[in-house]
Amino acid sequence: MLSDQERRVVTLIDKNCGEVVEYVRKLINFKTVTPPFEATEEEDRDANKKFQEFIYETLKEMNFEPEMWEIEPSKLEQAPGYGVMADRDLSDLPVVIGKLKGAGKGKSLILNGHYDVVSPGELENWHHDPFEGVVEDNKIYGRGACDMKGGIAAMIKAVEFIQRAGVRLNGDITLESVPDEEGSLMGTLACCQRGYKADAAIIPEPTDFNTLVAMRGYLAGKITVLGRGGHAEITQPHWKEGGAVNAISKAVRIIQALEDLTEEWRTRPDTQHRLLDPNHIVPTVIHGGKWAISYPEKVEIQFTSNFIPGTEYIQKEIEERIMSVAATDPWLKENPPSIETFWAYGAEIDENTPIAQTAMEAANDLGVKSKSVGMGSLTDGVHLINYSKIPTISIGTAEQTAHGANEFVDIDELTALTKILALSILRWCGHS
Ligand SMILES: [Zn+2]
Repeated sequence: MLSDQERRVVTLIDKNCGEVVEYVRKLINFKTVTPPFEATEEEDRDANKKFQEFIYETLKEMNFEPEMWEIEPSKLEQAPGYGVMADRDLSDLPVVIGKLKGAGKGKSLILNGHYDVVSPGELENWHHDPFEGVVEDNKIYGRGACDMKGGIAAMIKAVEFIQRAGVRLNGDITLESVPDEEGSLMGTLACCQRGYKADAAIIPEPTDFNTLVAMRGYLAGKITVLGRGGHAEITQPHWKEGGAVNAISKAVRIIQALEDLTEEWRTRPDTQHRLLDPNHIVPTVIHGGKWAISYPEKVEIQFTSNFIPGTEYIQKEIEERIMSVAATDPWLKENPPSIETFWAYGAEIDENTPIAQTAMEAANDLGVKSKSVGMGSLTDGVHLINYSKIPTISIGTAEQTAHGANEFVDIDELTALTKILALSILRWCGHS
């Protein structure tokens, strides 16, 4: 059931949803593509600054106290459970924070959104310019439409419509517009380390309107397997007599060990979760060999692994498994593979936590079904939950086209999200 004031805000959003659409289109126009890790093309970071200046101005007009600042990755301390990429270049990718003071005695809320978007990929797969924000068939098309400029627009406009309805919130709002979620997650980490706190946080990432309460952690790694060079057309003596060793053949054993681990984790009790898929490890990139008639001397295997919160020990398990398989092979025993890993923790909150209940009830009261769900990969929520100890959820529109060609946000869904966020804010922060 909606109160009279809630109904007033919701009606205002329904009547003026065209404003939210125009705002999303404007945000899509800024080409705020996440910078690649290896600079390959001319990048233009100017759009990021312009985007944030635009958000800054919006927040100022709404009586927020905004501030804009640059992240210095080398000054980020180690987060618990996260390898900070201290050499990641985040210059000209500013953060904008806006604080809106409430009347007092209400619960505070962080609204967080990442403004970086993944590369549009092959342009010929798009029916429209990915940065034009074309509206067709009641959808807004563009890179970032659902992931997550639609979410950023909805969270800002939700507050604006509350203000326009003449409702004063009791609790404080902190709005965070952050870079590099698709890259290093250090935008939100920097906010956490600066000490922004609240009683809860919402990140309107696309979730098909479900309430995201659990995310798997992430472990990336590279395994280097060594062989010994030699002419491939000449029969080689035993390696103990100086013969060649095929690094590809040795790497096969390591890859098989990774496959075996995934198979074990599929059913092992400690890697099961009520909302998440079990742990897995996937070899994703392989480099090896230089010449068709030479024994390959070196193979590099990259892998990605996702793991449920609380099983961080699999990092050690993976290393131990590789080493124990290597120990069964005389060459690998003497020339063990080397392993480099990089990892980020997963996170979860109790699905009965008040902010999750508030959002789910808000959705249900507006006729939108929402249930608690988990996600196989992670979002900026991991830092808010683990580092800042803030109960954090995500709720947003359909996620099907995120990162794909012809990404879109449906206008009815965008309006529904704006209403759900407005209702959640009103109920969480309290109002007069
Ligand atoms: Zn996202």
